[in-house]
Amino acid sequence: MTFHRTRIALCALAFATLASSTPGWAANEDKPWLNPALDPDKRAELAVAQMTREEKQGLVFAYFGTDAPWKKFTTSPEARAGSAGYVPGIARLGIPPQWSTDAGLGVATQGGAKEKRERTALPSGLATAATWDPELAHRAGAMIGAEARASGFNIMLAGSVNLVREPRNGRNFEYAGEDPLLAGMMVGAQIKGIESNHIISTIKHFALNDQETNRNTLDVNIDRAQARMSDLLAFQIAIEQSSPGSVMCSYNRVWGDHACESAYLLTDVLRKDWGWNGFVMSDWGATHSTARAAMAGLDQQSGYPFDDQPYFGELLLKAVASGDLKEERLTEMARRIVRTLFAKGVIDYPVKIVPIDLQAHAHITRAGAEQGSVLLKNDGALLPLSRRTARIAIIGGRADRGVLAGGGSSLVYPVGGNAVPDLEPKVWPGPIMYYPSSPLRAIQALAPGAKVAFDSGQDREAAARLAAASDVALVFVTQWTGESVDKSLTLPDEQDALVSAVAAANKHTVVVIEAGGAVFMPWVGQVGAVLHAWYPGTAGGEAIANILFGVVNPSGHLPISLPKDDSQFARAALEEQDAQGQKSLEVHYAEGAAVGYKWFDAHAQQPLFAFGHGLSYTKFTYSNLQARVDGLDLVVKFQVRNTGRRVGKDVAQLYVSPVAGGWEAPKRLAGFKKVDLQPGATEPVELRVDPRLLGMFSEAERTWRIAPGNYKLMLGHSSVDLPLETAIELPERTLPVRPKS
Ligand code: BGC
Repeated sequence: MTFHRTRIALCALAFATLASSTPGWAANEDKPWLNPALDPDKRAELAVAQMTREEKQGLVFAYFGTDAPWKKFTTSPEARAGSAGYVPGIARLGIPPQWSTDAGLGVATQGGAKEKRERTALPSGLATAATWDPELAHRAGAMIGAEARASGFNIMLAGSVNLVREPRNGRNFEYAGEDPLLAGMMVGAQIKGIESNHIISTIKHFALNDQETNRNTLDVNIDRAQARMSDLLAFQIAIEQSSPGSVMCSYNRVWGDHACESAYLLTDVLRKDWGWNGFVMSDWGATHSTARAAMAGLDQQSGYPFDDQPYFGELLLKAVASGDLKEERLTEMARRIVRTLFAKGVIDYPVKIVPIDLQAHAHITRAGAEQGSVLLKNDGALLPLSRRTARIAIIGGRADRGVLAGGGSSLVYPVGGNAVPDLEPKVWPGPIMYYPSSPLRAIQALAPGAKVAFDSGQDREAAARLAAASDVALVFVTQWTGESVDKSLTLPDEQDALVSAVAAANKHTVVVIEAGGAVFMPWVGQVGAVLHAWYPGTAGGEAIANILFGVVNPSGHLPISLPKDDSQFARAALEEQDAQGQKSLEVHYAEGAAVGYKWFDAHAQQPLFAFGHGLSYTKFTYSNLQARVDGLDLVVKFQVRNTGRRVGKDVAQLYVSPVAGGWEAPKRLAGFKKVDLQPGATEPVELRVDPRLLGMFSEAERTWRIAPGNYKLMLGHSSVDLPLETAIELPERTLPVRPKS
C-alpha cells in the first residue's frame, strides 16, 4: 500500500490525471455495461444481470479497512491502509473495489492505524457553515475530494448535516449549524464539490443523531411533521442540491426502530418522498439484522466486524436461500450500488494514488478559516491590531504550538504531526490533536517589530503580570470535543478564571476561542474583543493572525445560537431519569422544529450571541427591501452597501414570519447571500424563497401547506438585528412533498 508519510512534493493536481485514466471502452466491447455512452440505469441493469448471487452479496457487505485486534479481525491487504471501509470489486466484470475514507474535514486516518496519512484539514464543519458561502464550501469539498481521490479512495464519508439541536453534542463541530436552510445549502455544496472528483460522497447520519450520549441505544421521539421541517429538511435540501451517491443511516433508534431498520426513513422519506436513487450504507456497527434491515431499505452493511454479526455477509446468503429475503431485493441492493458507481464516474475514472499539492490546498483551508471565524465582540475597535503594537502578550491555548482539532473518526492527521502530542486521551476518541500552525508564530510574522511574549496560562498570576506589562493581551481558550462524548459548555481547566484575571490586568484583552461549538463566556463583559475560531484546520494559526491584524476582514456569522448559560437549553439533562432513578434510553424532542434561534424566539429568550451574528471591520447597510410573488415564487430584492472604509464581505439574512403565527416559532431564515463589497459600493441582491420555508408540513397528506395571509419579511445582520421590514400577502397553497421536482 502506498502511504505518504512525508511531505508530498508539489505536483500536478490529482484531477489532471482523470482523463488519462479513463479506460478505453473499445477494449471492453464484450462488457457493454462499461460503455460510458449508456445511461447509468442501463449499465447497472446489464452489469447486475451478469452477477452470481455471491457476487451481488459481495457488493452489499463492507469490511472495516483497518485491523481490529479486539475483534481478532485482520483487514484485506487490498484495503487502503488505516481506512474506514473496503468492499472487494468484481474484477471479471470491471467493477472496482469500493475504498472509503472519512470524512467531511478532509482525508482522515483511523486512530488504530499504524501509520497516518498526512493531509489537509479544513476548519470544522461549523466554521465552514459560518462562512455562509456555498461557493466556498464547494471549493473546500472539491479540495478534500481531490485528496481522497489522490489517496486511492472512491468514497468519502462526508456530508455531515445533523442539525445542531443539542449544544452539548460532542460532534457538533462536524455539522453545519442549527438551521435547515443554511445547513442544507452548505453541506449540499460541499458534497457537490467532493463528487466533482468522480467519487461518491455519503451524507450522514440519517437521521436525528443529534447527541452522542447513548448514541447506539437512544430512541429519538419527535413529531414527524416537525422532523420534516427541521432535521429532515436539512437532509432534503442538501440531497436536492447535490444528489449524493450514498446516505449513511445512523446509530440511534427513531420512533422505536433502529435508524438502519426504519422503513419510514429509508424508503418512505428517502426514496418515495424525495426520489433519491443512491444507496444506503449503515454507520459502522449500526446494522442489527438481515432481512428486516434489507427490507426497510438498507443496501449495504458497513465496517464489518463493527456489528456483532455478518448480517449482509453469510447470513444474507442464508436468508436468500431460505426465502426470508427475496433474491429480487438483493438484486436491487446490488443494482443501486453499481448504478451509483456508474453515475458518479467511479468506474469510468478509476482512482489512482498520486502526489497531492498540499501547499495549494493550504490556501483553501486557510480561506475557509478566515471567512468562517466569527468576530463576536469588538468594543472601541480594539481589533484590528496595529502592526506597530510594541508589546503583545499571548496567553494560553497552546497558541505557541498550534491550533486545536476535534476528535473521532473525522480526525485528519496533518503534515508535521501533532504539535502537542502528550495530552490524554491518546486513544479513541483521541488523540487530542493540535495542528502545527502556531498563532504565535503567525502573529510574530505579521508584527516583526513587536515584542511577542507567551505565557501558558497555567499560573493565572503570571499571566496577569505579563498582560499588565503588554499593550494588548490575546488569550486563547480551548475546548476539545469529540465523537461519542457530549460536553458541558463550560470551558475546562479554569480558563474562565484565567480570562478574568488577564482582563482585570489589561483592558485591551482579546479572547480567541477554539472550540467545537458554543461555550459559555461568563467573562464576556470584561474583555474588549472575542473571536470564535472554532477548530480552524491545518492553516488555522495563520488565519487567526490575519484576522487579528486586519489582513483579512472577518466575515463569519454564527450558524448556531450561543446560549448564556445552561438555563437556556431546551433540555436540562442529556439523560432523563425515571422515578426509580433509572436512565431512560429515550429522548423526546418536544421542541420539535423550534431548534436554536427558533427555540429562543418561541421562549422570548435572548441568547448571549444570536444566530447569524458576526462583526466586520467595516459597516453594511440595507435599503430598498421589496417583495413580490412571481408565479409560484416569493422573490425578495434589496440593496447592500458597504458604508465603511474597508473592503469586506457581508452576509445579508432574510427572515420570514407569518403575522397570524401558527409556525413552530415566530420566524424562520428564508434566504441569505454573502456579498463582497469595496468601500462605498452597493450591490443589488435578489433572493427566491424556498416555498417550504413558508409552509407547514402535513404528515397525513405528505404536503407542504402555505396558509393564506400576511407575512412579515425582515432583513438584517442576525436573527435579532433586523433593521428592514416589509410585508407580503400570500395566497393559500399546497405543495407536494418534493416541490422542486
Ligand atoms: C462514525 C461515522 C464514520 C464511521 C467510519 C462512525 O463511528 O459515526 O461518521 O463515518 O465511524 O469511521
